[in-house]
Amino acid sequence: MFTDRRGGVSTGPFASLNLATHVGDDGDAVAENRRRAEARTGRVVALWPRHVHGTDVLTVTRALPAGREVDGCVTADPALAVVALGADCAPVALGDDAAWAAIHVGWRGLRDGIVAAGVAAVRAVGRGAVRAAIGPCICGRCYEFGPADLDAVVAAVGPVVASRTTTGAHALDLPAGIRSELRRAGVESVQDLGVCTSESVAHYSFRREGRTGRQVVLVAGPTP
Ligand SMILES: [Zn+2]
Repeated sequence: MFTDRRGGVSTGPFASLNLATHVGDDGDAVAENRRRAEARTGRVVALWPRHVHGTDVLTVTRALPAGREVDGCVTADPALAVVALGADCAPVALGDDAAWAAIHVGWRGLRDGIVAAGVAAVRAVGRGAVRAAIGPCICGRCYEFGPADLDAVVAAVGPVVASRTTTGAHALDLPAGIRSELRRAGVESVQDLGVCTSESVAHYSFRREGRTGRQVVLVAGPTP
């Protein structure tokens, strides 16, 4: 399940379903928003993580206190849902017949291999073919990017990530990079929501807004 701005109680730049605590929003409002998002899954969220643009994927077997610094979570417990947050960075869902994961993919994580790490983590505890869904994130026409950093991502991921903005500046195509990394990891079934956070007013966008909230993907298995 991918969330957007709608259906929460936060106000101002965080209106309304902000699910991140580190962005300056009211803590009680975020707690209520998290309760609402969790209720929509019918599961317990295993961990509300704090992302650090790394490549660690945590295997979760019980609910943990919020704030653990990790960019991916995987579980095979039908009672648990896993979550990844983003506002231009991509929340990505992964799953096979027995396990499911949520990973946070920004340009650093893409460069350093978070996608492959997420797929490997699902395979380690699951079975069957891994499938993926790419959530709302900034697109290749909007994500203006410094040439030096872009070169580093191209070197790691390939020329597919090199793009241009609508005005002709260097840009990074994050969803194209994620699709490429998924293919390289052997994931053939990939859904891409195709929503650009920078262009959609229904979504949070750090690039567009600066001070803003975060949407999430919540990933759960079959009804327990
Ligand atoms: Zn865009």
